[in-house]
Amino acid sequence: MALIAALQVANVQGEDNARTRAEDIADGILLVMDDIVRQTERAIFYVNSDITPSERCGQKHQEALYRAASSLSYIEAVGLISHDGSHLQCSTFGPVGDEIKFGDVDYTTPDGYVFYKHATSKFLFDNDYTLITKGDAAIFINNTTANGILSHRSDISLGAYRKDGGPVMFGRGTVDPRTSEKYVGESSSYVDAHHLVAVSYSTSSSYVAFVAFPVARVARSVARSTRLILPIAFIIGFTIAVILYFGLRRATSLSFALRRALPTKNIFMNYQPMIDMTTGECVGAEALMRWNDNGKLVSPDRFIEAAENAGIMGLVTRRVASLVAWDIADHLRKNPGFHISINLSAADLSSKSTIQLLSGFLSLTGIPAACLWVEITETGVLDATTGAEAVRLFKAMGLKVAVDDFGTGYASLSMLGDLKVDIMKIDKKFISTIITGDDGEEGSEIVCAIINLANSLKLDIVAEGVETEAQAAFLMAHGVRYGQGWLFGKPKSMSELEYFCESNARKSKA
Ligand code: C2E
Ligand code: CA
Ligand code: CA
Repeated sequence: MALIAALQVANVQGEDNARTRAEDIADGILLVMDDIVRQTERAIFYVNSDITPSERCGQKHQEALYRAASSLSYIEAVGLISHDGSHLQCSTFGPVGDEIKFGDVDYTTPDGYVFYKHATSKFLFDNDYTLITKGDAAIFINNTTANGILSHRSDISLGAYRKDGGPVMFGRGTVDPRTSEKYVGESSSYVDAHHLVAVSYSTSSSYVAFVAFPVARVARSVARSTRLILPIAFIIGFTIAVILYFGLRRATSLSFALRRALPTKNIFMNYQPMIDMTTGECVGAEALMRWNDNGKLVSPDRFIEAAENAGIMGLVTRRVASLVAWDIADHLRKNPGFHISINLSAADLSSKSTIQLLSGFLSLTGIPAACLWVEITETGVLDATTGAEAVRLFKAMGLKVAVDDFGTGYASLSMLGDLKVDIMKIDKKFISTIITGDDGEEGSEIVCAIINLANSLKLDIVAEGVETEAQAAFLMAHGVRYGQGWLFGKPKSMSELEYFCESNARKSKA
């Protein structure tokens, strides 16, 4: 489909059209650049705003830093540089931030921004950051986030540079359009000996974005494979149409919209109470993300899947952590036994930064580790070694680990054998098979089998999707103490949850 569409488009294109399309791509890159610039300026504003020297790097200031970093989608981390300029005094990387090597200065702008194109730290694993400083504010942008905008084709160069000079930033490839004799210093496109290049000057920021396609290489490889010498304009048109198709599809896709929504208030959390069925009291809550897209709620099943496919679950989970930290810290301090459960995806389990994120969460909220549960699914455990290692690290931190949607995949049993989890959540699909007759005799054999399995592994059990009194009664008769479901309460805002749990506590004491 994509190919046919691309071919149809390509067939009617000459070089002019190809150039127009390249210009569109450069404009798209510029939109992202302008976003990065705006976010950087806002982050610097937050880092510097309203702090007295004695508040510098204190708890309140750290919270402000954390909020700044997590509300700005392109900003990986923010921090403050020590007075002697040698290291970070504090940052949202936490203690590992001390270890960051800034590298050499790549460019200083006339208005005082300093760019370090490759800041690294051995503790930050495979990440490579562009560090932008102004005064003592430090802003980190993940280089892969910035240049993952278009598909990763190694022979395409793209990037941006400042109008006032300096090297190519946030880019990949070796092309710098300014070195071509065809470069005119304004938005334009040209074909020189080696590349088709489109350059786009921003009207709102100090950046210029560009994209460059290697003409000769595309021509040669297509000619070889088809044994035809196709007109170069056609080849360029075709190549660009394919790239543009995927680029645009990406730009209009759900994940792209989600990415834009993530830092905004259209993304928020709901909390579904987890109930001790023997007393009716709240013992905890599961944090579930909500997305209000122009007045319509998008189903989490849809947008989480889209985020997984687009590889942006890291951003989603980071947003979850900051929203939950913001929502719940007070409640957890007042109710020390209460736990909060967050869902992790496959990407979170294989990413080293998840541990950092969760320990940042604990230190920010000041809650005991055992009050934070993480829910993992078997589909989330892509390979047993990575999964087992992640669970081991979570448990070493003191978190509780729950296996979610147990029994819905293919690997449930082997997964339980490999991973030393604490809690099993029985999926709502199984709970709905509990049918209790008038005499209360009928039940669900599969639920009984799952309960027996959990008991023999000494796991706590939470039944999910409990909708009827009969299901609750059946579960309790079989020794299941904790339940979650519409019978007890739907997912709700934090303030509704607090009200709900307080009135439940009053009722159970009465
Ligand atoms: P899940 O983790 O299995 O979450 C439980 C889902 O069951 C929630 O759907 C909840 O609203 C729904 N539910 C709870 N009680 C009942 C009930 O009695 N009856 C029925 N029919 N449904 C009930 P929701 O909020 O639509 O979320 C769907 C899935 O999206 C979640 O399934 C989870 O896999 C994913 N998800 C939601 N928020 C997040 C998040 O912040 N991070 C990640 N990684 N995944 C999330
Ligand atoms: Ca869950
Ligand atoms: Ca579940």
